[in-house]
Amino acid sequence: MPEETAPDPLALLEADTTLAAAEPILALVAQYFADTRAGDGPVSTWHSAEVIADRLVEPLPRRSRPLADVARRLSSQLLQDVNRLAHPMYIGHQVSAPLPAAVWTDALISALNQSQAVREMSPSFTPLEHQVIEWMTDLVGWDDRAGGTMTSGGTEATLTALLAARSRAIPDVWTNGVGASPPVLLCGEHAHYAVSRAAGEMGLGLSRVLAIPSDGFRMSVPALREQLQSLRERGISVMAVVATAGCTATGAFDDLNAVADLCDEFADERGPLWLHVDAAHGGGALLSPTHRHRLDGLARAQSLAWDPHKTLLLPLAAGMLLVKDERVLETAFAQQAPYLFTPTGDARGWDMGPRSFQCSRRSDVLKLWVVFQRYGANALGALYDRLCRMARALYDQLDGHPSFRALHEPESNILCFAWYPDGVADADRDDLTNRLRERYNRSGRGWITATTLNGRRVLRITVMNARTDVMHIEALVRGLEAEAQQVLKHPA
Ligand SMILES: *Cc1c(COP(=O)(O)O)cnc(C)c1O
Repeated sequence: MPEETAPDPLALLEADTTLAAAEPILALVAQYFADTRAGDGPVSTWHSAEVIADRLVEPLPRRSRPLADVARRLSSQLLQDVNRLAHPMYIGHQVSAPLPAAVWTDALISALNQSQAVREMSPSFTPLEHQVIEWMTDLVGWDDRAGGTMTSGGTEATLTALLAARSRAIPDVWTNGVGASPPVLLCGEHAHYAVSRAAGEMGLGLSRVLAIPSDGFRMSVPALREQLQSLRERGISVMAVVATAGCTATGAFDDLNAVADLCDEFADERGPLWLHVDAAHGGGALLSPTHRHRLDGLARAQSLAWDPHKTLLLPLAAGMLLVKDERVLETAFAQQAPYLFTPTGDARGWDMGPRSFQCSRRSDVLKLWVVFQRYGANALGALYDRLCRMARALYDQLDGHPSFRALHEPESNILCFAWYPDGVADADRDDLTNRLRERYNRSGRGWITATTLNGRRVLRITVMNARTDVMHIEALVRGLEAEAQQVLKHPA
């Protein structure tokens, strides 16, 4: 066989730089939007991970092939088994059917590949991040001392906020650590695991996280008061109180004013207790005249986690940490890195790196800016309302239903509901509920989630797709009814 001459790698790269070369990949995106618009076809896959993994086994590709070939393989080997979040019957996890303008912008962000950590590496988008954060802190109602940073999501935002709170509570922590009996963190029992994970990461230990019981699905204010009183009597100091605005399981909002009142009342020598609000999910309510009131009291917090990749419908990743006083972020990470960051003295520090857990960081702020420019904050608020109305539509449809019952009134776009098949004991419902969800999701009709509430498995929807309409909610109920009959007919 004649020796093949290896293609010039640079020529390969150059061949891929044109719009025509990109077309096979971009066409997959447009095709996906078009296919899911009609709402037919399966929402997800019924293949197991093993079946898909087997299909992908091949040696490392050593030779090049045209981008169009790669796009074809991508389409035939992988795309048929994705979760189609843009399909109106996907009403599952808290991941959005992303806004198209943001999807296209992702390619530009990658092409430019500016790194947000350092102003000199991102001369245009570092100031842009400051501007967008200012819009967001204005929405909260904070003044020009406020600031923040984009993050990978709510988990990082909450860790960063609690690092700042840790610095306030233990000023020499960066050098000397947390010591033998660090202060405690308080949060609702339904708080996201980001809070306890942060406690582990920060070296506080999970035993220093005290979960406050719920009242409905909100943090109980009397129980919080009782705990704060007891800690005061025992001389144990509090690093932060974490409230949740849009709780993961049920979408419930804690009463922020009531929690902030307690943070004032139990102030210590450093001032009011640090209030962190985890609004990773519910932050979008700030843009909605109808739902904004659920965040009343938010401006009294020290810090706020808000994920635009949740209810502002951005693609992953776009998270945000906002703080009432930007300087607290500089104490959260007391890191010196003269090879990267410009020492500023008293001048405004444009570098984002000193305020952020990450070093190299994508300019995710650009897609947020594009979305505000393209759709406007009012339309985004209207979309938030629409998502919430769909959860309400399911709540209304289940009213009086013979076997499905809503477990709470929806406060956002999340609703938990339970299946009560005739004559089935409570203890047997968990298994049936799991089987119903699995059967429904594998049927391709739609896709929903499940969670555990008060010790029982229950069904759960999160509406994260602007295309989901009342007719789809009706189809969900019909689909569950049909699959429920099958589950009862075919005992495991
Ligand atoms: C989703 C969510 C988180 C975690 O955010 P990530 O973006 O997944 O890191 C934290 N808290 C709440 C309330 C959430 O809904």
